[in-house]
Amino acid sequence: MKKFESESALKFHIKAKHRSYYFGRFVAPWIALIAVFLITGVYVAPYVAQPQQTQTTTLDKNSLLNMYLKGNEQVSMHIHASLRVLVDGEEIKVPANIGIAADGRMRVIHTHDETGLIHVESPVWMDFTLGDFLAIWGKTISDECFDNYCGKVRVTVNAAEVKDPLNIILRDGDEIIIAISTK
Ligand SMILES: [Zn+2]
Ligand SMILES: [Zn+2]
Repeated sequence: MKKFESESALKFHIKAKHRSYYFGRFVAPWIALIAVFLITGVYVAPYVAQPQQTQTTTLDKNSLLNMYLKGNEQVSMHIHASLRVLVDGEEIKVPANIGIAADGRMRVIHTHDETGLIHVESPVWMDFTLGDFLAIWGKTISDECFDNYCGKVRVTVNAAEVKDPLNIILRDGDEIIIAISTK
């Protein structure tokens, strides 16, 4: 029997002289292994890709603010806060149908009329803010300006001045006033 210097020399010999043996001993197991991986991959992948088949009921605030109510969901939160905008003492009406699409679908924060009543109707109880409403309305507020009205902006909630109007949490029955003095 021939003596081989090393393992690789032995392999080389086996490969050269005994092709089918080499195939069966070293190549076939790998092919079988890869085949097993591919086949299990095809069957298992769909389950791995969607690990949470169970419905999660938690909606984050951004998705809530951007969604339109379909009308069939449980509206567990339904509150109203009122908003008045005064420019030099003159009331600027808050429009009707803020947050309501042409087809009637509503966002969780919306208005139905020009009374300044802000409706919050949400499937999940959450703190919605004046900033959330203004974003839906498309208005900006700062110390100097509300929308295009600039000067000094003063915001009160139930007659108490608030320094950070964007973060005013909309609560049932609250009366919010944005007063701008341009002079
Ligand atoms: Zn409503
Ligand atoms: Zn309402």
